[in-house]
Amino acid sequence: MRDPLISDRPYRGRFAPSPTGPLHQGSLIAALASYLDARHHRGLWLVRMEDLDPPREEAGAAKRILSSLEAHGLHWDGEVLWQSQRGPAYAAALAQLERDHHLFRCDCTRQLLGPGGACCGHCRERQATLSEPVAVRLSVPAACRIRFIDRVQGAREIALGAEIADFVVKRKDGLDAYQLAVVVDDAWQEVTHIVRGSDLLDSTGRQIFLQQLLQAPTPSYCHLPVITDAAGHKLSKQNHAPPLRDERAAANLRAALRFLGQPQPPEEVDAVADILAFASVNWTLQAVPAVLSITATSATWQPR
Ligand code: GLU
Repeated sequence: MRDPLISDRPYRGRFAPSPTGPLHQGSLIAALASYLDARHHRGLWLVRMEDLDPPREEAGAAKRILSSLEAHGLHWDGEVLWQSQRGPAYAAALAQLERDHHLFRCDCTRQLLGPGGACCGHCRERQATLSEPVAVRLSVPAACRIRFIDRVQGAREIALGAEIADFVVKRKDGLDAYQLAVVVDDAWQEVTHIVRGSDLLDSTGRQIFLQQLLQAPTPSYCHLPVITDAAGHKLSKQNHAPPLRDERAAANLRAALRFLGQPQPPEEVDAVADILAFASVNWTLQAVPAVLSITATSATWQPR
């Protein structure tokens, strides 16, 4: 149950940062785990820059993320895929969903939206009279439940219809939604294994549902614990996590390995390439704590 390599396709993993700020220790953990899992299985490791939300982006962040990955020895295979170049692919997926009658438009203002950003419930009948700007939502049947086995978190079930309901696939500001873009790109890049933070566990139900509608294969999922502060907030760019210091790459990698429950390379191993070579061979997914979060004050990782 813990490690179902459900795919018989050649392993293709990926790291998909959003360029909203520099990498921090939390994003290094996701990058490193996805890299090690791919290398351990002699697979490819791709990098996709999720630059599809310009208002949230920080100038220079994409370049800084890529140079930080390189400084930590995390060299990717092939070219980086930039989501900002992928508009036509997202439009084609939306056209397919539209043709199959899965979409409706919604002009709810922020005040009208229900809990979790749900549509007020009346837009569907008002399609002919809606006023621009509109968001495009995917219809989710009320009884829709998504089940999958997460390689770290175990069996999961998401009541997509009851808890998340009709979700946005194209935003009111005209931007393609993350949920759609990630599914289209994972399929196009033939990603077989997704290793990422548990903050995205909730999105997995939406993504599997979209894969089913688009007849795309469902990859294997693995959601890692995220680092939280004492108040339970995820370490993130939004709450000003300190940027990774590239000159401390070896120490950063060792701290990330400790957080992931992995064996430490012998003390005399200090080059990043050697730390990664040791960690790839010894990578043990079973050792990753099967919890959603770990506070930074626990012994596994200390912010500096
Ligand atoms: N771009 C997303 C983020 O930085 C991650 C997407 C994913 O791994 O599916 O949070």
